[in-house]
Amino acid sequence: MTQSDAAVPSPESAPRDFIREVVRRDLAEGRVDSIVTRFPPEPNGYLHIGHAKSIVLNFGIAAEAGGRCHLRFDDTNPVKEEQEFIDAIEADVRWLGFDWGDHLYHASDYFERLYDWAEHLIGAGKAYVDDLSAEEIREYRGTLTEPGRPSPYRDRGVEENLDLFRRMRAGEFADGKRVLRAKIDMASGNINMRDPVLYRILHAAHPRTGDAWCIYPTYDYAHGQSDAIEGITHSLCTLEFEDHRPLYDWLIDNLPVPARPRQYEFSRLNITHTVLSKRRLTQLVAEGHVDGWDDPRMPTLSGLRRRGVPPAAIRDFVGRLGITKSEGRVEVALLEHCVRERLNREAQRRMAVLRPLKLVLENYPEGESEEMEAVNNPEDPAAGSRRVPFGREVYIERDDFMEDPPKKFFRLAPGREVRLRYAYLVTCTDVVKDADGHVVELRGTYDPATRGGNAPDGRKVKATLHWVSAAHAADARVRLYDHLFARPDPGADGDVLADLNPDSLVEVGDAKVEPGLEAWPVGETLQFERQGYFCPDPESRPGAPVFNRTMTLRDTWARLQAKGQTGGP
Ligand code: ATP
Ligand code: MG
Repeated sequence: MTQSDAAVPSPESAPRDFIREVVRRDLAEGRVDSIVTRFPPEPNGYLHIGHAKSIVLNFGIAAEAGGRCHLRFDDTNPVKEEQEFIDAIEADVRWLGFDWGDHLYHASDYFERLYDWAEHLIGAGKAYVDDLSAEEIREYRGTLTEPGRPSPYRDRGVEENLDLFRRMRAGEFADGKRVLRAKIDMASGNINMRDPVLYRILHAAHPRTGDAWCIYPTYDYAHGQSDAIEGITHSLCTLEFEDHRPLYDWLIDNLPVPARPRQYEFSRLNITHTVLSKRRLTQLVAEGHVDGWDDPRMPTLSGLRRRGVPPAAIRDFVGRLGITKSEGRVEVALLEHCVRERLNREAQRRMAVLRPLKLVLENYPEGESEEMEAVNNPEDPAAGSRRVPFGREVYIERDDFMEDPPKKFFRLAPGREVRLRYAYLVTCTDVVKDADGHVVELRGTYDPATRGGNAPDGRKVKATLHWVSAAHAADARVRLYDHLFARPDPGADGDVLADLNPDSLVEVGDAKVEPGLEAWPVGETLQFERQGYFCPDPESRPGAPVFNRTMTLRDTWARLQAKGQTGGP
């Protein structure tokens, strides 16, 4: 099964929502005979998990109906768009498990046709060149409670408009000197209908068309017409475009377009402790608050990938949310729950000690070692087992020892016996300290009769610890990530940056990991027993692995659900 097959739900499990109802009805009533959707990113940043909602919806609906979904770059603003973003977007959509086949398009593919259609509008007296500045246009536009006023240039004749528009294209005017506007209704209750701008002058090179153009169409003008050219049947977008729909329809109605697409809107994805606006994410990158677009704390698809989140978990997550028109913020704990659910099933288990404390087993023969059988994934018998070396010196987690333990601490303490997973029961007999009184090493004994971690006499120990053999362990650096924003609603008090979580990254420099992990494949997330899920960072070098913590094992969503506090899916 390829990744993209995996992303297509079978008809029985296909989700239901109001957009799918429309699709079903349109097919049943013969309004359309096949379904064509598109995912239309603007290449001015990397894709984030909000985009994943749109991708899963658009590709999902098309696949369920046996139709197709296009990838179309909405590349109408060369000032902010870059080839780097185009490449990253393609890679991310593929990684998420979707395939547009031959249907890769760009709004810029249609610049010539869009231009001809603009002349068509001018010829029909439905568009005019305006000399007002951007600021004046805003002023004239009015407000929600006040109608707009007509521009003094609104009633220019067709010939003059055509001449000026052609000269705009020819590069005669500086940026911002003139625009082309649709002539609709300055008194409309919908501000989008008050003579919206269709073209602006921008003397900027475009990643695809180079210097061929110095006027560029606006989103509103380019989008619906691109949909029509491609034969898109259902143009799905987020709710902020609801008020643009009358304009979308007006342009389709007034242009000789080859098809009649329709726009439907659904609510955006918002997540607690997260920002999902490209403007904000761009700021985080540009100002160095994170280590690039793919920083594992970023909600970008490339960040989630680098963090070790499987694409299937993202599809599970957005699938569970459903498609509605209600706005809200989804608990990030639900995303994390979906990630854990997947990884619990799929991730191999290994042992790693993040903050090592050496335990020397004094009755274990010096210079010897043996191999212990360890289960790779208790949830997946097919994952098999492996052999882990054990010897006289092992590292255990510093946190798993207390010299003077309180009542509820059941792990290692002087005189106490615990189980080393897959190995032996061991007892701490002595504590070695440095001059400042810090514990630097433990001494102990093992019980040779408990090989594999089982006591033949059935005696119980209250704790099972993970460990690695000191003689065999590999060194690793480990990055422990937490939410990038400390509060659930970043920026609610006005300053998003003030809400950055100062502890969102803690780096551990001297972790000890099981042999075999020094060269674990990037992209393959595993569980460090009792610690969480981790994956190698692409910065890993042979013999110098760096692991990113994908997630701890603590499932706050399951806890909220048990308490009946999730209120959502
Ligand atoms: P942002 O608002 O984050 O800057 P955008 O909407 O400008 O994003 P586009 O590249 O234009 O980004 O988005 C491509 C598609 O993804 C659009 O159809 C848009 O509606 C959809 N999309 C963007 N953000 C979200 C989100 N948070 N939830 C669902 N869909 C989204
Ligand atoms: Mg947009």
